[in-house]
Amino acid sequence: MRLRSALRLTLLAAAVLATATAVSFAQDTAPLPKVRLIATGGTISNRDGGRLTAEELIKSMPGLDRYVRPEYEQFANVASGSLTLEQWLELSRRINQLFKDDADLAGVVVTSGTDTLEETAYFLDLTVKFDRPVVVVGSMRNPSTLGYEGAANLLEGFRVAADPASRGKGVLVVLNDEINAAREVTKTDALRLQTFQTRGYGVLGVVDRDRVVYYRDVIRRHTAASEFDVFAIKELPRVDVILAYQGAPGDLIESAVDHGAKGIVIAGAGAGATSGTQSEGINYALDKGAIVVIGTRTGSGRVAARRGPVPARFGGQTLTDEQRARFARRLSAEDLAPVKARILLMLALTKTQDPAEIQRMFEEY
Ligand code: GLU
Repeated sequence: MRLRSALRLTLLAAAVLATATAVSFAQDTAPLPKVRLIATGGTISNRDGGRLTAEELIKSMPGLDRYVRPEYEQFANVASGSLTLEQWLELSRRINQLFKDDADLAGVVVTSGTDTLEETAYFLDLTVKFDRPVVVVGSMRNPSTLGYEGAANLLEGFRVAADPASRGKGVLVVLNDEINAAREVTKTDALRLQTFQTRGYGVLGVVDRDRVVYYRDVIRRHTAASEFDVFAIKELPRVDVILAYQGAPGDLIESAVDHGAKGIVIAGAGAGATSGTQSEGINYALDKGAIVVIGTRTGSGRVAARRGPVPARFGGQTLTDEQRARFARRLSAEDLAPVKARILLMLALTKTQDPAEIQRMFEEY
């Protein structure tokens, strides 16, 4: 009796072992995820005597083949501020096309200079209509500097892009072992390595030695759920950001509109206050039919959207139809940083001129 149950146990153990071996064998032979680098330039490539190419960036990462099957292409090789809005459209179309044409492509890593990285990342967040990860990576030290962290950031970017847990999280920004959401992240320091921060909400996750770990999601609308279609956009309308500061002249706003701005974002003081003659400038812009979106220059917090219809009376006075139309075109950025509100407003204006529709977008994205 005892012998028979011992035999049964041995057989059971052998079966479990065989299954486990089969599973681990299957895992070992499954092809690694394919991830493509699209290099645009920036400090991460800015080696003295000649910028690193996409190919050289790939070669700078020891152990990359343990995580991914890498591909690469050179989109540009410039400082981030030199990328034009036409190139933004082109970059987004390229990524959309790559995902459309290649179901096997697990994710994309984009290198960028860090100065305006958060803007490029947010533009992609609003226009790449796939839930496969797009990870934007840069570095604060160039390849000729002792302590260059670019190759490490890039490898982390590849690991994040290859990780199935990164799907559906919107465009991600990876530097300094941290994962931030494109919508939320800001470059907060001119020089330090830990410059990319999400004030108010914190990181989405981290890239540690053992694995990529997420702690939260962005629940706003982005990527696959976006209503913006870069293939239908020929050109982005001019939208300018104007800072509020003590005694600020409103004629800067007037000048922007006279030079063709269809929208103005005010980086307001506190919860959206203006100063000097800016309110006259804003009225000028509204009368010319521009949309004015009020945000905050504080770096976090929100400027709340007006609820309900435009009031018939304001400040004890009955508003004329003209005044009500002006009132309607003055919107709020909610919690979007002014430079990102500008991107959303540019895209919104390619679809509609209806202020209520545009305000809806600021509440959804
Ligand atoms: N920090 C610059 C940027 O944001 C990079 C400088 C360069 O690549 O020349 O693009």
